[in-house]
Amino acid sequence: MSTNIEINPIKEWLPHINNPLLISGPCSLETEQQTLETAKLLAKDPRVFVFRGGVWKPRTRPGSFEGVGSIGLKWLQMVKKETGLPVGTEVANAQHTEEALNAGLDVVWIGARSTASPFVVQEIADVVKGTNVVVMVKNPVNPDVQLWVGAIERIYQAGIKNIVAIHRGFTPFGDTVYRNYPNWKTVIELRRVMPNLPIICDPSHIAGKRELLYEISQKAFDMGMEGLMLESHIDPSCALSDAAQQVTPADLAKLLDKLVIRHQTANNPEFETRLDMLRSRIDAIDSELLEMLSSRVEIVKEIGRYKKENNVTALQISRWSQLMDNRVNIGKTLDLNETFVKILFQLIHEDSVRMQTEIMDSE
Ligand code: PEP
Ligand code: MN
Repeated sequence: MSTNIEINPIKEWLPHINNPLLISGPCSLETEQQTLETAKLLAKDPRVFVFRGGVWKPRTRPGSFEGVGSIGLKWLQMVKKETGLPVGTEVANAQHTEEALNAGLDVVWIGARSTASPFVVQEIADVVKGTNVVVMVKNPVNPDVQLWVGAIERIYQAGIKNIVAIHRGFTPFGDTVYRNYPNWKTVIELRRVMPNLPIICDPSHIAGKRELLYEISQKAFDMGMEGLMLESHIDPSCALSDAAQQVTPADLAKLLDKLVIRHQTANNPEFETRLDMLRSRIDAIDSELLEMLSSRVEIVKEIGRYKKENNVTALQISRWSQLMDNRVNIGKTLDLNETFVKILFQLIHEDSVRMQTEIMDSE
């Protein structure tokens, strides 16, 4: 998997940004008036850096509002002219992408259903090749990091360096409080394999309802994500798509006021010194933990040899369940999370059984 890809920081294509990248605008552009009124209100807030508006809408079932189509690009051009905000929309095939580029859009994003299809992503990549458009890649509908990375690689291989990944949540199986459940593990893994890639969060499509936007947005900042895409509409309850999750520009401002923005560093020597001190204590404890695990391994092996001499099985269920109960109880008295203790001892035990069976099968 490629890791060293050189993606531009957001500041490269948005020089006046002062962190984080906030993108807002309607789920769908509906009328010229709705587009411009929403955009003008958003543009008054210096925290909004990009205006979004869906023109071609990927709807799960036919018969819902599928967007106004190409006419919406003209409204986006008007927004750009009148507010100065860069503008973007979702593209789902080569034709959308050509039209969006011809209309001078600054940003195009690939929606979750499209990211899941390498043919579609390649088709879009072939059109953006040689341009300096910003391409945002939403996660695929299923939590498959390889598919997400693959889509980003296709865009990168087309020569695009202004790329942003968007965590918009994953299709749930059964009922959840979220419309698309967030999976931070997938985001952490994407960050690990592509450390330079800016990643933002789309709380609107994760939440599906306004009430959850604050919680998800704050979590995104706590996780170190570089920005948010939040849907807004002058009259959310009358929106033709995603009415329950959109907010008015005024409510967006209130939401932003409440959020605590976190940074990778505090730019404060006192903070750095104290953090270094605490981290060196963690390092010392981790090394003690590993030494203790190594002493445990020695005893596990000795037991393995002893069991072998006496023809006794490596796995002994009653001992295992007693051990687990005992460790979970000790963990509780030490205020450790029960699931964590269980998973930890499952791993330790699994490896002990593996070592003992290896001893038994040798010679
Ligand atoms: C959207 O941003 O409005 C949207 C539909 O996103 P996605 O395609 O990722 O669901
Ligand atoms: Mn939407």
